[in-house]
Amino acid sequence: MPDTLFWHFDKSSVYSVRSGYKVGKRLDCRVSSSSSTALGTWWNFLWGLKLPNKIIIFIWKACLNWLPTHLNLAKRGMKIDSGCPICRKKLESTGHALWSCTKLKQVCSSSASFLQHLKWAEHIQPVDFLLSCSNILTQSEMKVLCVFLWRIWWRRNLLVHQASSRCDENVVRWALNFVNELREACSLNVTHSISSVQLQQQVVQWCSPVVGIYKVNTDAAIQSAHNRVGIGIMIRDNMGNVMGCSTQVLEACFSPQVAEATAILRGISFAIDSGLLLTVFESDAKVVVDLINSGTAPRDETGTVIADILRLIHSHHFQVSFAPRSANMIAHSLAKLSFSFEDRFYLETYPPCLERLVTADCPV
Ligand SMILES: [Zn+2]
Repeated sequence: MPDTLFWHFDKSSVYSVRSGYKVGKRLDCRVSSSSSTALGTWWNFLWGLKLPNKIIIFIWKACLNWLPTHLNLAKRGMKIDSGCPICRKKLESTGHALWSCTKLKQVCSSSASFLQHLKWAEHIQPVDFLLSCSNILTQSEMKVLCVFLWRIWWRRNLLVHQASSRCDENVVRWALNFVNELREACSLNVTHSISSVQLQQQVVQWCSPVVGIYKVNTDAAIQSAHNRVGIGIMIRDNMGNVMGCSTQVLEACFSPQVAEATAILRGISFAIDSGLLLTVFESDAKVVVDLINSGTAPRDETGTVIADILRLIHSHHFQVSFAPRSANMIAHSLAKLSFSFEDRFYLETYPPCLERLVTADCPV
């Protein structure tokens, strides 16, 4: 299921500027010192930003002070320490959690000067801060700011709920990359071609593996005019969570079968290198999958790659199955993207342009 925006302030459940404005007007006396007109313009601007729904909704909730910070939870009557669970020095307001906690300094060193110039004083409500930012920043800077705040909250939740150590990435750089990749994808017109058209055409959907097992989908694309082969690899768990993915380009003149077999071989290596040993593999190349499952490598070019695959799947007890193209869309899209992205490896994340496909594959 793709993300669906559900606007519960209107009977139709669909957001309109009019109903957003009414809600904004109702809320502005509680949360903001800005004028209703300015708030109406802000909501309109926010819902029009071309960012993944989850980020827009996050910013919207932050504006309404609905994020479950410790201070907000305490205000709602929960018996909880209202202090910041990370620095343990100040109250955990929205502004503190997303902006002024001293523990954020180490992950926010920035070459993005527009972020350094922004000031979010403790007493300023989130909506007023963002509204004032939207008056001085460009639309693309606002996108980076929204992605940055979303990622800071994501990091805060990891630290608080999972005591994760994977929290030392530079969040500013992460947000800049995210927005750049989104822009790249739009300029390639990839978002439209792989989300709208192909989502509608999906018949057989990706099927998640059983709990504890990972599934690797692979695909290859060929640019014969340039003698290039693109490879796409996607690894997900039983909930459809992305464990890793990759785009790779080979300067080679392969037949479709050799290209597909090479994609499977690269997928197997990626899973082994990532330490994911309880894994099943899927490819939409039926002929290649049948050859692998016959257990014998033919005496030709394809056979050389298949022999390597057989060796690895026997020693790791892997299993390779066929999936129709409609259930292998993400690997297919990654293979095509590889001609622009070249060699990229993602761990626990993926190019933003795949957002809709990843969400559509998640089990309900
Ligand atoms: Zn703090």
